Amino acid sequence: MVTRMPSWHDVNFIDEFQNEFDKPFFIEQDANAGALAEWWFGNHGRPLNSLTYFLVGEGVGSGIVDHDRLLLGNLGIASEIGHISIDVNGPACECGNRGCLELYCSATAMLKKAKKLLPEIFQEEITNRWEACNKVFIAAKEGNEKALKLVDEIAEYIGYGCVTLINGYDPEIIVIGDSISQGGNLLLPTINRIVKERILPEISSRVQIKISELTIDPTLYGAAAIATDKMLRKPSEYLVRK
Ligand SMILES: [Zn+2]
Repeated sequence: MVTRMPSWHDVNFIDEFQNEFDKPFFIEQDANAGALAEWWFGNHGRPLNSLTYFLVGEGVGSGIVDHDRLLLGNLGIASEIGHISIDVNGPACECGNRGCLELYCSATAMLKKAKKLLPEIFQEEITNRWEACNKVFIAAKEGNEKALKLVDEIAEYIGYGCVTLINGYDPEIIVIGDSISQGGNLLLPTINRIVKERILPEISSRVQIKISELTIDPTLYGAAAIATDKMLRKPSEYLVRK
């Protein structure tokens, strides 16, 4: 869901690009693209029934592939986990809701807190979000107590997100990706603890939660998968002899 580009709300991107390049053009949410990339290229070691890609970066979102198909909903905005309220009286979110998960565990949220708690690691201006997040994780790995506490808090909220994803979509596997996933093993024990505490054991024991192992950003990888998937589903629509 695009919440930070109000001036672009009336622009039809598909028409604009298609007219400019005279080629089929597809547009998809980053989390959906990531989900399809994990489904096609994720090397999860077995055929899957259902996979959730949990994107935790500048924003928070999820993409669901269930029995080979992306779950899209009516407007294509299904599974917007980042805008599920975890505190109905919480701070206002740009989406119109309050207390959205995204306000608690996104990279934006983590960096906002980190700059107050750990000013010493942000003395130089860092414009790259991935690098900025990594600074916090490195400080935590080095045993900085404040960084460890902050990372643990982020992991807890990601855990609450996983609980909602499991209750909502029954995934066989949840793959966590984007900039916060760089936290890797700093995050997973807390995430798994929260899931074990809040989901029935016969369910939680059958869900694998892992960090994305794709070496290319799954969202970019997924863009190719989205275009290929859409063309293969309706080849006659695109492969017209001219
Ligand atoms: Zn929201």
